[in-house]
Amino acid sequence: MSLVSREIRLKSRPVGLPVAANFELASVDVPAPRAGEVQVKNLWMTVDPYMRGRMNDVESYVPPFQLGEAMQGGAVGEVVASNDASLKPGDLVMSMLGWREAFTAPAASLQKLDTHGLPPQAFLGAAGMPGLTAYVGLIKIAALKEGDVVFVSGAAGAVGQIVCQIAKIKGHTVIGSAGGAEKAAFLREIGVDHVIDYKATSNLTAVLGAVAPGGIDVYFDNVGGDHLEAALTSARPFARFALCGMISQYNATDAGAGVHGLMLAVGKQLRLEGFIVSSHFDMMPAFVKELAGWVAAGKLTWKETVEHGVENAPAAFLKLFRGENLGKMLVKLG
Ligand code: NDP
Repeated sequence: MSLVSREIRLKSRPVGLPVAANFELASVDVPAPRAGEVQVKNLWMTVDPYMRGRMNDVESYVPPFQLGEAMQGGAVGEVVASNDASLKPGDLVMSMLGWREAFTAPAASLQKLDTHGLPPQAFLGAAGMPGLTAYVGLIKIAALKEGDVVFVSGAAGAVGQIVCQIAKIKGHTVIGSAGGAEKAAFLREIGVDHVIDYKATSNLTAVLGAVAPGGIDVYFDNVGGDHLEAALTSARPFARFALCGMISQYNATDAGAGVHGLMLAVGKQLRLEGFIVSSHFDMMPAFVKELAGWVAAGKLTWKETVEHGVENAPAAFLKLFRGENLGKMLVKLG
């Protein structure tokens, strides 16, 4: 079966904040599957902040996107034609072939999705890479201990919303920071003890100090910049910082702003540890099992913001940098 698929290509490399003109929409024929291959129609694709780094022509922990080629990223699709015994039409598969409507690929390069009763798109968010990031950062990197006061930035986003709830499930006092009244209200709904709307304050360090007069033990950093500086000031001795991401720096045109107060890490004997979730994929089965239990028990929930159509994927991506997503930003295809 021959199919036409629309896809998003990187047209030019962004300088600073990406703009719509950095992307282009193209159409390609998707060939019928040969032996060992399947043809897949994508149902959902994800846009994630890390993709900004792949738009630069620099080697990092993931290779740069190539100009004039379809971009890549997580997607959930449905097999529509199969020439391999391991997958049949109707099966759901996970791939890194997002940013396109359909593709043909070797069956062995795809992961068959067992949804455990969750909606398929959850595996691009709460039950997928962002959820695992929250779990790894808290449990393994920050090594949560009883009584810890946990500060989370980007708290109402894909990763942050799961961080806040896992920390609450484990009995911690949680301080969450996000931009705007709607996000602040959501954080209160999911039980965050102290909510900071950072866009409504000009002195985040003072506000964090006021809500955590005894200091913080764990900082889960999604934002960097002023949030990291506030956390350094409020950190108790021996506090642990899980450095997950620093989105406030991703569009910097120089090396990014310096961090004021980093010397506090010496005197307070802090541990600042960066991590990349793909180094911890072995924890995925344990995480999905625990998550399914929390969901079934009504202890964990999440928000999604959904854009429709592959042609709107660049706009969905750009919204991440304007904070126009509550929870996981997704694009529904098909
Ligand atoms: P989010 O769903 O949190 O979306 C991004 C959010 O970042 C926006 O909604 C906005 O929220 C906030 N933001 C954007 N620009 C700024 C800015 N200049 N200053 C402060 N906040 C800003 O994304 P994810 O949950 O997918 O990712 C969160 C972080 O985790 C990112 O830094 C990402 O790179 C990182 N990450 C790291 C992984 C790893 O393996 N280390 C894996 C996955 C994600 P608001 O409205 O509150 O400002």
